[in-house]
Amino acid sequence: MHILKELEQTDLAETGGELHSFAAELYPICRSITGDGIRRTLALIQNRIPLQISEVPTGTAVFDWTVPKEWNIRDAYIKDSSGKKVVDFGECNLHVLNYSTPVHATMPLSELKAHLFTLPEHPDWIPYRTSYYKPDWGFCLSHKQFSALKDGDYEVCIDSSLENGHLTYGECYLPGASTDEVLISCHACHPSLANDNLSGLTVATALAELLSKKDLRYSYRFLFIPGTIGAITWLARNRESVGRIRHGLVLTGIGDAGGFHYKKSRQGNAEIDQAVAQILRHCGEACEILEFSPYGYDERQYCSPGFNLPVGCLMRSVWGTFPEYHTSADNLDFIQPSQLARSLRVCAGIVEVLENNQRYRNLSPYCEPQLGKRNLYRSTGGEAIGVEINARLWVLNFSDGEHSLLDIADRSGMPFSAISAAAELLRESGLLSAVAVGTGGGEVSHPTSKDDPTPAAQLTRKQRVTVLD
Ligand code: ZN
Repeated sequence: MHILKELEQTDLAETGGELHSFAAELYPICRSITGDGIRRTLALIQNRIPLQISEVPTGTAVFDWTVPKEWNIRDAYIKDSSGKKVVDFGECNLHVLNYSTPVHATMPLSELKAHLFTLPEHPDWIPYRTSYYKPDWGFCLSHKQFSALKDGDYEVCIDSSLENGHLTYGECYLPGASTDEVLISCHACHPSLANDNLSGLTVATALAELLSKKDLRYSYRFLFIPGTIGAITWLARNRESVGRIRHGLVLTGIGDAGGFHYKKSRQGNAEIDQAVAQILRHCGEACEILEFSPYGYDERQYCSPGFNLPVGCLMRSVWGTFPEYHTSADNLDFIQPSQLARSLRVCAGIVEVLENNQRYRNLSPYCEPQLGKRNLYRSTGGEAIGVEINARLWVLNFSDGEHSLLDIADRSGMPFSAISAAAELLRESGLLSAVAVGTGGGEVSHPTSKDDPTPAAQLTRKQRVTVLD
């Protein structure tokens, strides 16, 4: 399966432009962890890819948590004593503390101040604040706006509702030859914030669109969910089938100007960790691999010890490390079309590694087979002859049924694509036979039955290896 080459033939600016304009379409919506904002967002994603929408009622117990009341908002403002709006939700949805309880009252500035949030160090920016689990109301405003408020009475109005309803999430399932799954998860619960939620949503949607046209080895499951409570809810409802997840990625914050950061899964040495590192090493951009930590995005839930799924997190700039994080400055200018497009290429490259990674057995292991008489001691074009021959020798030497193509790529320092192309050629020439690793063979034991929810990662190597031929 080759999707990267196809993507590389498309124009970076054009792909980036499409991703950015989808982000612009989603940007004005006031999303939250529940309510019509996330529903509208999912409906727009559903216009592009097949999406199954789930509605989970308020009060549903999900592990140690409970699905909260549904929040919706129509309007909010602060008016001064002359009736002039000094803060207006209609201008920017970040102005309201997300999940604010309804309020309509008049009060002096001294009393109102306890409900106002600003960023003095960035006086033009509006902070993004939430209060999901503690009933409260408030307004976020620029420090400049705040400083201009004069003593006197202010009318405050938040026309919101917090009622029994549902938590909504979307799921796009693309079946492949195997029921083993690759999970791609992104949060869809932030209002007008571009890098932090929209970059992941748009790239994941485009990736699903691309994969939906391909014959796939794995099945793919894309989740568009509210952060934390959404992942917890999904895991609670799918506890018995998560053993199918062989590889997973949380995608977020991948549109800014920074280089790539990949946070490894809790396992630390999962195939997804190796695959992402391999692609980033050869992607031509700055990148850094981070060890797992139990804070961050929804990898915290997928990698909680009861699940311990092989799920890492791909970002550009790391959340909380750049000043625009969780402010109005994380806007459509903060994400760049070309960066979104490059992130999509990296994701496609990772999928390509997962789809093509195999263990092989060299069928002629006693000394080197004579490549010349098989016409393999010449170039097939593309790479310099030395590189191609080198890749063939690496694959032949390490195809002992133990080393995967990814292992061989890492050990040789060559890109996976070169090693994979060499293996394909050697297999066609009858010098290699494939050994399946946990997928594709159809005979691999799946921990998917109701009475055996053992995560795939806990299977022994022997259980996961089946000879294909
Ligand atoms: Zn965030």
